[in-house]
Amino acid sequence: MSTPRAHLIRCLRDAYAMEKHSETMLGAQACRLGDDAHLRIHIQHHLHETLGQQAMLASCLARLGSGPSLIKGMAGEITAFSQVVIGMTMRDEVVKGAMSTYAFEHAEIAAYTALVSVARAAGDLETTRICERILQQEVEMAGWLSRHIPATVTRYLMGVARKRDEATR
Ligand code: MG
Ligand code: FE
Repeated sequence: MSTPRAHLIRCLRDAYAMEKHSETMLGAQACRLGDDAHLRIHIQHHLHETLGQQAMLASCLARLGSGPSLIKGMAGEITAFSQVVIGMTMRDEVVKGAMSTYAFEHAEIAAYTALVSVARAAGDLETTRICERILQQEVEMAGWLSRHIPATVTRYLMGVARKRDEATR
């Protein structure tokens, strides 16, 4: 039988792998968002937060006498890379990118909501507090995206219309 503490370590390692995936995905997106500065600046801001989240999770694992699992982290990076390659074949990649980031933020919200309960069950108050703080960052990022996806679509459609005008002139 797994102890609450062993379960917490596994969940923290999964979260760390998820944040490695997030780093790769956000980094690739920031590079591709050349024509949408508004979205790019916020993606870069969350990329910075994501690196801080990795450090916070690593500190929790270190206090529990463990560390991040490198193998899982690498698997996450490969998945993120293949998603980017798929994304590049789509013409509305900026909109698709914002949508997939929005979906990913909700997966993170689900993961940290569970992790807060796991940490509390293990009696680890410091990890509970840290996971609540990370959860709040993910909620804020998801909220920002939901408020800005409509404008992202509008900017994309305006760009399409401009190219059509130029082609028919
Ligand atoms: Mg995150
Ligand atoms: Fe996030």
